[in-house]
Amino acid sequence: MARLCFDYGHGGNDSGACYNGRKESNDVLSIGRAVAAEIRRHGVTVDETRTSDSTVSLSERSGFENRNTYDYFISFHRNAFKPEQAKGVETYTYLNPGAKSKSLAQRIQTALVALGFTDRGVKEANYHVLRETKAPAVLVEIGFIDNTGDNNLFDSKRNEIIKALAKAILAQVGVDYIEPSVSTQPASGQTLYRVMAGSYSVRENAEKQVKKLKAAGFDATIMIFNK
Ligand SMILES: [Zn+2]
Repeated sequence: MARLCFDYGHGGNDSGACYNGRKESNDVLSIGRAVAAEIRRHGVTVDETRTSDSTVSLSERSGFENRNTYDYFISFHRNAFKPEQAKGVETYTYLNPGAKSKSLAQRIQTALVALGFTDRGVKEANYHVLRETKAPAVLVEIGFIDNTGDNNLFDSKRNEIIKALAKAILAQVGVDYIEPSVSTQPASGQTLYRVMAGSYSVRENAEKQVKKLKAAGFDATIMIFNK
């Protein structure tokens, strides 16, 4: 199964770009960790260069990545220019990228543009985290933090952004995205075996049974069937 390294830009002493009290370091930590959780749900390993608001140098980030072998390294950032002067998403690879990083960058870019961000394109840059990492590496700038429209998109479409990024990254490693299960509906093709421990016509009796099972250490719940 694939193994990924996620890098959330800035943190600790370095807030990254700031606008009206909003910090890039917080935005990328929050959304990146949510994407990591979505991806882990599919059995893919995701390691992270930071998991809290801590200061991590660029060489610590690449050093972290260098200690392991990863399929991809993905760095999360938000852009800034002059207040309200620029907007949109851009995704970077290192100079003269290989097919893998180029393909991942394109998938990420397309996924975010589909949610309404302006397409600034896939670009190349001589950034430390792209140059000094071993795995195919990309760096995504998820909208401009100094653009109100981009921030509104970032906030109002948070869940869609998380899903879109997870989907794009999973597709790149050959894993189909699976919707989170909100019920006990099995994924198509999958069979679930449910264990019963009694049927009752009086709800109180069902609740007693649940209590008994829970006391015995079993995870129990009442399911209602209408005859
Ligand atoms: Zn940044």
